[in-house]
Amino acid sequence: MISGNTSALTIAESLGKASALSVGLGAAAVRLSGLITIEQLREAVQMELEELGLDAQVIEENLRLAEEVYGGLENVTIQPEKVPPKELVHEMAYDHVLLGTPSILAPGNAEARQTGSWRVERPEINYEHCTRCGLCFVGCPDGAIALDEQGYPVIDYDHCKGCLICLEQCPRHSIVSKKEVRSW
Ligand code: SF4
Ligand code: SF4
Repeated sequence: MISGNTSALTIAESLGKASALSVGLGAAAVRLSGLITIEQLREAVQMELEELGLDAQVIEENLRLAEEVYGGLENVTIQPEKVPPKELVHEMAYDHVLLGTPSILAPGNAEARQTGSWRVERPEINYEHCTRCGLCFVGCPDGAIALDEQGYPVIDYDHCKGCLICLEQCPRHSIVSKKEVRSW
């Protein structure tokens, strides 16, 4: 607990810079870790803020903030008898990664949107040099390349936006770019 009315937030606010909050929170973290002395903290803050090119006065204010937060905290000693019993500790359940990430599982109406009309450059595959490595298929961010039964890539021009990532991916340089002439 920081003593008196002092808190990282109120000191940071008094400096008029929300960014100073990180100095206060950093000072709190190193104090609680018990691994870093106040001299080391001062040196680190000074060095980092000088590298950022801040004014001497701003650096001094940040040093004051770091010292006040550091000095207002006490080391925390974990006492075994105060560790909560296991039944009170909430174990985080494992959920499949798809539940925690913004993934689109169903294509919705994406197929109906012919994003190929955005294309100004048109990738074309030279099948004579294609080795069927599949890198273009993997690299296309729009899933606009499929593989045919023999494993050759086939571009879906209704949805290819012409970003030319596939061209960059192809190790055989067997995809070339041409100006799009198709009308929609
Ligand atoms: S140009 Fe872009 S969108 Fe079109 S097939 Fe290549 S990687 Fe996919
Ligand atoms: S990256 Fe090139 S060589 Fe590989 S499958 Fe695609 S077009 Fe063929």
